[in-house]
Amino acid sequence: MIDPMSGEAVDPRVDCTRCEAVCCRLTVVLMPDDHVPDHLTARSEHGLEVMARDEDGWCAAIDPLHLHCSIYAQRPTICRMFAMGGSQCLEVRETYRDQRLRGIPIVLE
Ligand code: SF4
Repeated sequence: MIDPMSGEAVDPRVDCTRCEAVCCRLTVVLMPDDHVPDHLTARSEHGLEVMARDEDGWCAAIDPLHLHCSIYAQRPTICRMFAMGGSQCLEVRETYRDQRLRGIPIVLE
């Protein structure tokens, strides 16, 4: 199956509704055309404008109760391009699952 946004081959068995939104723990670099509320953004150590994160590493825009994006209609370009079931999705889910199984604290770069 091919994701229409990214053109990437995806695993159709993967579904966001059965995931803990682990992609929303990745660094999201903002593009010039992104319009995200300022209070949800931060500067990376390299000076890039990024989505801010909370103390647990989740994107500041996530609704922690439902694990949904609270700014879905305004979500950044990178989030729009992230293919559900694509290679990066599968990789981050696998890493998250592995760290949880081994009891390793999940620390993000
Ligand atoms: S902006 Fe929304 S979709 Fe993007 S990482 Fe944050 S919560 Fe997830």
